[in-house]
Amino acid sequence: MKLTLSNLSKTYKNGVKALDDVSIEIESGMFGLLGPNGAGKSTLMRTIATLQAPDSGSADLDGIDILNDKQSLRKVLGYLPQQFGVYPNMSAEALLHYFARLKGIGDREQRNEIVNTALEVTNLFNVKNKNVAGYSGGMKQRFGIAQLLLNDPKLIIVDEPTAGLDPSERHRFLNVLREIGTNHIVIFSTHIVDDVKELCTDLAIMNGGRILSHHTPKKAVETLKGKIWALTIDRDELEKHEGMYNVISSNFNQDNTLNIRVMSETRPGDEFSEKVPELEDVYFVTLQNDEKEPANA
Ligand code: ADP
Repeated sequence: MKLTLSNLSKTYKNGVKALDDVSIEIESGMFGLLGPNGAGKSTLMRTIATLQAPDSGSADLDGIDILNDKQSLRKVLGYLPQQFGVYPNMSAEALLHYFARLKGIGDREQRNEIVNTALEVTNLFNVKNKNVAGYSGGMKQRFGIAQLLLNDPKLIIVDEPTAGLDPSERHRFLNVLREIGTNHIVIFSTHIVDDVKELCTDLAIMNGGRILSHHTPKKAVETLKGKIWALTIDRDELEKHEGMYNVISSNFNQDNTLNIRVMSETRPGDEFSEKVPELEDVYFVTLQNDEKEPANA
């Protein structure tokens, strides 16, 4: 399977350019769209999900012209929006049966099988008799996935699914995505680097409506090999170091010191130690480079 986006642009009425000539090819597997708030991720995902039209550009999924043949795309699409509706006081199982009937799955036995599979994959089987309205945030997100699995989608889009989840719920949710991500295209957006670190086979970093980089997480990290250096400093020395080095991130320690990470082709000074680059370094460096030379400046 292949999703091809070509030259997508979108400017909202208020003048915000949310998509700026986005072109990218996405193949089967788990694709992470990583970027800060306002980067344009939701706009891009709503465009692929046929919920809003771009000003220009085209989008193709294995021969389906997404922008002009919305119906064909919707048949193979599973979309989990950022916020979704209020649920009635019905058990997860009953509600899934209801949705499956709406989708035209009339045969009871077939419906049982589809609903049970959806409950199992999303780890909700043992709470299938509880009201969805009373589910925790993480369970509701997993229920959203169960719901979209009912029509066996080929393209699954989940928009910031981990926002607001506590760490254990987040972990459980990512495991569910991992389970379904093998022979479909799963696109999921996040501003949390850790979300994409273990999960994604492919990754793009987005900001200002543009795709700034597109690599496998492993490749992305390799580009910084030998260039990441760390040093522990006093917290009031940060500004001085920022003036001297290309500081890409800093983290507080409990004892009033800071760990800074610096990008440099060569060792910045004797006191620095070389570090194995992490995806977070890639993210910060990519965003920083973009700030220095934005395309539409
Ligand atoms: P993200 O999902 O990465 O946070 P969005 O696609 O939601 O990014 O937003 C991209 C930019 O477009 C932001 O500056 C946002 O404020 C703006 N934006 C989003 N939706 C609208 C809208 N309906 N009207 C005007 N501006 C919008």
